[in-house]
Amino acid sequence: MSLVNKLAEERRARLAAERLLELKQAELSAANRKLGRHALALTRQIGEKQAEVANVRTENERVKSDLTVANAKIEVAERRLWHSIQTIQDGFAFFDAESKLIGANTAYLSAFDGLEEVAPGISYMRILQLMTDEGIVDTEALSPEDWRRMMTERWMTPTPGPVVIRMWNDQYIKLIDQRGHGGDVVSLALDITATVRYEAELRAARARAEAANRAKSAFLANMSHEIRTPMNGVVGMAELLTDTALDEEQRLYVNTIRNSGEALLVIINDVLDYSKIEADKLELHPEPFDLERCIHEVAMLMQPTVRDKGLSMVVDYDLFLPTRFVGDPGRIRQVLTNLVGNAVKFTKAGHVLIRVTGVPDAGTGRGAIHVAIEDTGIGIAPEKVGHIFGEFNQVEDERNRQFEGTGLGLAISRRLIEMMDGTVWVESAPGKGSCFGFRISLPMAEGQEPIPSDVMGRLRHVLVVDDLPVNRALLCKQLGQLGVRVTACASGAEALERIGRDVDLVLSDHNMPEMDGLELAEALNARGWGSVPFVLLSSNPGAAQSDPARRLVRAILQKPLPRAELFSRLAAIAGEAGSPLQAPPTVRPDAPEPPAGHARRMRVLAAEDNRTNQLVFRKMVKDLDIDLRFAGNGQEAVELYREFAPDLIFMDISMPRMDGKQATAEIRRLEAGTGRHVPIVALTAHAMTGDSDGILAAGLDHYLTKPLRKPLIHDRIREACPRDARPVEMSGGGAEEDGLVRL
Ligand code: ADP
Repeated sequence: MSLVNKLAEERRARLAAERLLELKQAELSAANRKLGRHALALTRQIGEKQAEVANVRTENERVKSDLTVANAKIEVAERRLWHSIQTIQDGFAFFDAESKLIGANTAYLSAFDGLEEVAPGISYMRILQLMTDEGIVDTEALSPEDWRRMMTERWMTPTPGPVVIRMWNDQYIKLIDQRGHGGDVVSLALDITATVRYEAELRAARARAEAANRAKSAFLANMSHEIRTPMNGVVGMAELLTDTALDEEQRLYVNTIRNSGEALLVIINDVLDYSKIEADKLELHPEPFDLERCIHEVAMLMQPTVRDKGLSMVVDYDLFLPTRFVGDPGRIRQVLTNLVGNAVKFTKAGHVLIRVTGVPDAGTGRGAIHVAIEDTGIGIAPEKVGHIFGEFNQVEDERNRQFEGTGLGLAISRRLIEMMDGTVWVESAPGKGSCFGFRISLPMAEGQEPIPSDVMGRLRHVLVVDDLPVNRALLCKQLGQLGVRVTACASGAEALERIGRDVDLVLSDHNMPEMDGLELAEALNARGWGSVPFVLLSSNPGAAQSDPARRLVRAILQKPLPRAELFSRLAAIAGEAGSPLQAPPTVRPDAPEPPAGHARRMRVLAAEDNRTNQLVFRKMVKDLDIDLRFAGNGQEAVELYREFAPDLIFMDISMPRMDGKQATAEIRRLEAGTGRHVPIVALTAHAMTGDSDGILAAGLDHYLTKPLRKPLIHDRIREACPRDARPVEMSGGGAEEDGLVRL
């Protein structure tokens, strides 16, 4: 090989080596560049991480400081809370779900008087044990075991009720425990010693007040009796004085004495009753009684005032409602007296209607009774109606203030009806009238009087004459229900026109305008209808008795009349009357009465211990032709019953030695088996205050309340006059010849 070639080869090799070197250098710098980029990226990442770390660090610092603040706050709150709990005077404790004490305030712990065991961790049951063992609690009537059992049982309930415990030192602690969601219990121990003492003081004060109230009631009851007795004398004597010759001025004085006396008696009775109700002293005394008779007795009592005022009193007792019930007749009569009395008092013209309806329930043996007293009086304004059953509530207006009263009557009536589980109500239209009523449910009593329907068969056609539509309607209804045909006439003139040959009986009102009942009897007789039995319904039978036309009247019936009595009287008259169709219409004189002077006098016994009352009674009957004897007490009454054989006895109820009820019971015992039954009329001081309890049950037939009223006494005597005695009216008339009955 030439040198040139060798050189060329070397050059080529050098060039190739140079190219390789260049290549490697290029590769190296590329790798260097990549490395540089990577290093850059890494540096950036490190920078970022470093910033993040710095952030987290500051955040951490902040949270740490917040936590410190929060902890400090919690500590403050806890301290405050605990401080507050400590300052509470009442005991406060927490227990966990296992009934272990978590914590308690000083007040709570102080009850245990330094017992070191009572500290957080002690169980509730152990606390109870310590309380009894150490005598911290007074378990009163319970034994320590029973007390702990009672307390533990209570503690275990999900919601323990409050309990009051008595501590050894007479402190009273009320425990109120509240169970939380996790089973923890917060226990509060309130010191209620002051409240308990106060309550005890109040109880003692109340007992003292009640005792004083009872003493007041007893005093009132005694006083009212004491006041009533002399008042009786005052009123009775004043009444007798009105019958003597007086000049006008004297009569005014006497009337004022009598009216004031009577008003005072009403007030005394109201106040007494009200105080009895207030003192819860009033009790009901149920006994069998006749409701219809009771209502008629009230109506009778009002009759003199009704008559004086020219009103009409109507009783509409549902024909199909039994009359005998078991209830307190005295109290029912009192309510009726008040409601009917008000109706009469607040009515100047028109009528007072007592309507009794009801539904007997054979299943329960009770009757739902509904009594309504309707009047055509002054009425009550709608805005006042709601108040009048309240105490001392009187409607204060011009029309009303002309009437006297205590404003207690309706309040007493309401309370009495409520005591009977009944309700009272009123409806009223000013200027038109009022309707007061009550509903009660009473057990039905044995011995209901049957309606004499068979005897009524003899009456086919009755001519009813009454100027008052309400009376006519009532009689039509009552007779119509028995299947009797009724022709109702509004006046005597109409009756004269409408009477026909098929009329079996004329039933006429006494007091009618233009032609009264007795004038109608005369007119009928004059026209040849004298054979048709004529029955007069009168609110003043005394006046009718002494009228010359009396001979034309078959019977005078006091109105209003219980329907059973009306029916039986009409049936009896129909029974004795011959058939008017066959008998010629001629004057038929009344059955001859035994001539006066030949028959014996009626014997009347009055048992009354009070001399003044005896005098009043004697004077009241002085115009009657009767044989009167007095008994000073019940025993004498029984003796005189044997010796004197009275036809009628008036019996005072409160008498020394043997009272009126006992004497009556004795007389009834003597009568047993003899078939005799002497009517006995009780004279009671105040029928409405419970004095009447058992009066009718004791065998008395009727009763009259004091002060005695002459017309009522005369009525009773007249009614009881036997057939073999001569009439009690003296010939020539007595004090009632003027037809007026004085009250
Ligand atoms: P008083 O003793 O005043 O009659 P009551 O309690 O019986 O007391 O009656 C309260 C009041 O109710 C009466 O004063 C009267 O204003 C009114 N009142 C009661 N009944 C009637 C009635 N039938 N008509 C009109 N007002 C009546």
